[in-house]
Amino acid sequence: MNNHDLACDQVQQTVVLFIDHELPSDDQYQLFEFHFQECEPCLELLNTERAAISFMQNLLRNTCNEVAPEALNARIQATINSLAATSTVEFFSQTTITEFTFDGTTSIEITQEFTQEIRHEFPQE
Ligand SMILES: [Zn+2]
Repeated sequence: MNNHDLACDQVQQTVVLFIDHELPSDDQYQLFEFHFQECEPCLELLNTERAAISFMQNLLRNTCNEVAPEALNARIQATINSLAATSTVEFFSQTTITEFTFDGTTSIEITQEFTQEIRHEFPQE
Protein backbone atom coordinates (compact mmCIF):
# COMPACT_ATOMS: atom_id res chain seq x y z
CA MET A 1 0.00 0.00 0.00
CA ASN A 2 1.25 3.40 -0.94
CA ASN A 3 1.28 5.83 1.98
CA HIS A 4 0.97 8.78 -0.34
CA ASP A 5 -2.39 7.76 -1.65
CA LEU A 6 -4.55 9.82 0.63
CA ALA A 7 -6.65 12.09 -1.55
CA CYS A 8 -6.72 15.83 -1.02
CA ASP A 9 -10.46 15.98 -0.52
CA GLN A 10 -10.24 13.22 2.09
CA VAL A 11 -7.59 15.19 3.93
CA GLN A 12 -9.54 18.39 3.69
CA GLN A 13 -12.74 16.84 4.98
CA THR A 14 -11.11 15.32 8.04
CA VAL A 15 -8.33 17.81 8.79
CA VAL A 16 -10.18 18.93 11.95
CA LEU A 17 -10.08 15.37 13.28
CA PHE A 18 -6.34 15.33 12.67
CA ILE A 19 -5.91 18.58 14.61
CA ASP A 20 -8.10 17.38 17.46
CA HIS A 21 -6.32 14.00 17.61
CA GLU A 22 -9.56 12.23 16.90
CA LEU A 23 -8.46 10.09 14.00
CA PRO A 24 -9.31 6.46 14.69
CA SER A 25 -5.81 5.04 14.20
CA ASP A 26 -2.11 5.85 14.26
CA ASP A 27 -1.84 4.72 10.66
CA GLN A 28 -4.11 7.54 9.65
CA TYR A 29 -1.93 10.09 11.38
CA GLN A 30 0.98 8.79 9.34
CA LEU A 31 -1.03 9.07 6.15
CA PHE A 32 -1.92 12.64 6.99
CA GLU A 33 1.64 13.53 7.89
CA PHE A 34 2.96 12.08 4.65
CA HIS A 35 0.35 13.97 2.76
CA PHE A 36 1.16 17.27 4.43
CA GLN A 37 4.83 16.80 3.64
CA GLU A 38 4.06 16.50 -0.03
CA CYS A 39 1.01 18.64 -0.60
CA GLU A 40 1.32 22.32 0.00
CA PRO A 41 -2.36 23.28 -0.40
CA CYS A 42 -3.35 20.75 2.26
CA LEU A 43 -0.55 21.90 4.56
CA GLU A 44 -1.80 25.44 4.18
CA LEU A 45 -5.31 24.31 4.98
CA LEU A 46 -3.96 22.55 8.08
CA ASN A 47 -2.27 25.71 9.28
CA THR A 48 -5.32 27.82 8.56
CA GLU A 49 -7.60 25.40 10.41
CA ARG A 50 -5.21 25.22 13.35
CA ALA A 51 -5.10 29.00 13.56
CA ALA A 52 -8.89 29.21 13.33
CA ILE A 53 -9.35 26.63 16.07
CA SER A 54 -6.90 28.28 18.45
CA PHE A 55 -8.48 31.63 17.66
CA MET A 56 -11.88 30.21 18.63
CA GLN A 57 -10.45 28.67 21.79
CA ASN A 58 -8.88 31.96 22.82
CA LEU A 59 -12.11 33.75 22.08
CA LEU A 60 -14.04 31.31 24.27
CA ARG A 61 -11.45 31.52 27.01
CA ASN A 62 -11.55 35.31 27.02
CA THR A 63 -15.32 35.28 27.04
CA CYS A 64 -15.29 32.94 30.03
CA ASN A 65 -12.87 35.20 31.86
CA GLU A 66 -15.37 37.98 31.94
CA VAL A 67 -17.37 38.86 35.02
CA ALA A 68 -19.34 35.93 36.37
CA PRO A 69 -23.00 36.04 35.41
CA GLU A 70 -25.45 37.57 37.87
CA ALA A 71 -27.16 34.21 38.42
CA LEU A 72 -23.91 32.61 39.54
CA ASN A 73 -23.19 35.40 41.99
CA ALA A 74 -26.70 35.09 43.41
CA ARG A 75 -26.28 31.33 43.79
CA ILE A 76 -22.97 31.71 45.60
CA GLN A 77 -24.47 34.32 47.92
CA ALA A 78 -27.47 32.08 48.63
CA THR A 79 -25.16 29.19 49.49
CA ILE A 80 -23.16 31.37 51.85
CA ASN A 81 -26.36 32.62 53.49
CA SER A 82 -27.77 29.15 54.00
CA LEU A 83 -24.46 27.94 55.44
CA ALA A 84 -24.45 30.88 57.84
CA ALA A 85 -28.07 30.22 58.84
CA THR A 86 -27.39 26.60 59.74
CA SER A 87 -24.10 27.20 61.51
CA THR A 88 -23.62 27.76 65.19
CA VAL A 89 -21.25 30.42 66.32
CA GLU A 90 -19.96 30.27 69.87
CA PHE A 91 -17.72 32.62 71.72
CA PHE A 92 -15.51 31.47 74.52
CA SER A 93 -13.53 33.68 76.76
CA GLN A 94 -11.01 32.52 79.24
CA THR A 95 -9.38 34.69 81.85
CA THR A 96 -6.18 33.68 83.53
CA ILE A 97 -4.86 35.56 86.52
CA THR A 98 -1.31 34.88 87.53
CA GLU A 99 0.13 36.38 90.65
CA PHE A 100 3.79 36.20 91.40
CA THR A 101 6.22 37.84 93.74
CA PHE A 102 9.76 38.65 92.77
CA ASP A 103 12.23 40.70 94.85
CA GLY A 104 9.49 41.86 97.20
CA THR A 105 7.29 43.16 94.37
CA THR A 106 4.04 41.44 93.60
CA SER A 107 2.83 41.43 90.05
CA ILE A 108 -0.51 40.30 88.76
CA GLU A 109 -0.79 39.26 85.19
CA ILE A 110 -4.22 39.02 83.63
CA THR A 111 -4.63 37.28 80.33
CA GLN A 112 -7.89 37.10 78.52
CA GLU A 113 -8.36 34.92 75.51
CA PHE A 114 -11.27 34.97 73.16
CA THR A 115 -12.07 32.09 70.93
CA GLN A 116 -14.69 32.08 68.25
CA GLU A 117 -15.90 28.80 67.01
CA ILE A 118 -18.06 28.34 63.96
CA ARG A 119 -19.61 24.96 63.57
CA HIS A 120 -21.48 23.69 60.60
CA GLU A 121 -22.87 20.26 60.04
CA PHE A 122 -22.83 19.08 56.50
CA PRO A 123 -25.55 16.61 55.68
CA GLN A 124 -24.25 13.11 55.20
CA GLU A 125 -24.97 11.25 52.02
ZN1 LIG B 1 -3.48 17.49 -0.57
